[in-house]
Amino acid sequence: MKNIVRGWPLVLFCSVACNSDAGRSQEQRQTVASAVPARGDVEKRPAIQQPIPAGMVELTTHSRLRVQLVYATTQNVTGRPLEGYQSNGRCVLRKDTADAVIAAARDLSESRPALGILLWDCYRPQVAVDDLLAWTQMPTDETLKSQYFPSIDKRQLVNAGYIAERSSHTKGTAIDATLVEWSTGTPLDMGTRHDYFDKLAGNKGKITNLQRANRRLLQSVLHDFRPYAREWWHFSLTNE
Ligand SMILES: [Zn+2]
Repeated sequence: MKNIVRGWPLVLFCSVACNSDAGRSQEQRQTVASAVPARGDVEKRPAIQQPIPAGMVELTTHSRLRVQLVYATTQNVTGRPLEGYQSNGRCVLRKDTADAVIAAARDLSESRPALGILLWDCYRPQVAVDDLLAWTQMPTDETLKSQYFPSIDKRQLVNAGYIAERSSHTKGTAIDATLVEWSTGTPLDMGTRHDYFDKLAGNKGKITNLQRANRRLLQSVLHDFRPYAREWWHFSLTNE
């Protein structure tokens, strides 16, 4: 596939998902679209394209791969776009990491063609990591707390291992990902949403057998990646 992922998250999603829209019903297309943040969710800032860091590449599309960078939208734990993402709507990864994602999508298309991989985060600029760290020290928004970190003080998110001062994302070797039903765009039930900083998102969370099986399936699909015990969605390249 030669299509390159570019632009804002909505455009990103469409540039990937719309490749396979042919043959879908109108109802299915609307369902897929409803899973994506509305354009108004993306804060309007100058769309300056920053250069891709040395050694990294823009992820190319695959027929079972979608990208929706949540930190460029309001759909994340901070409730706003992170610094650095206004010009980082693309999924950028270190070359070997991008190759591993494409290999996983290719294998999935053969083993479970009804499913696809949805990427929520790829390369994360250090300025975004710093923004996230600064956010942990700001007053807590109770609505966000109930949605994303109901049982922990946000100032403890770093010490608890949910937010890292040095992230593999900044090296371009980590991804946040889940599995979706390809025809509808509906994520499989993993027990929690993305960015849900709670025991429920980790290995020791009390989840159903189906949710546990779905997490195991995700881990087996991303066979060249190492899962993170506290967050089912976070994976680092095995040979970082
Ligand atoms: Zn992550």
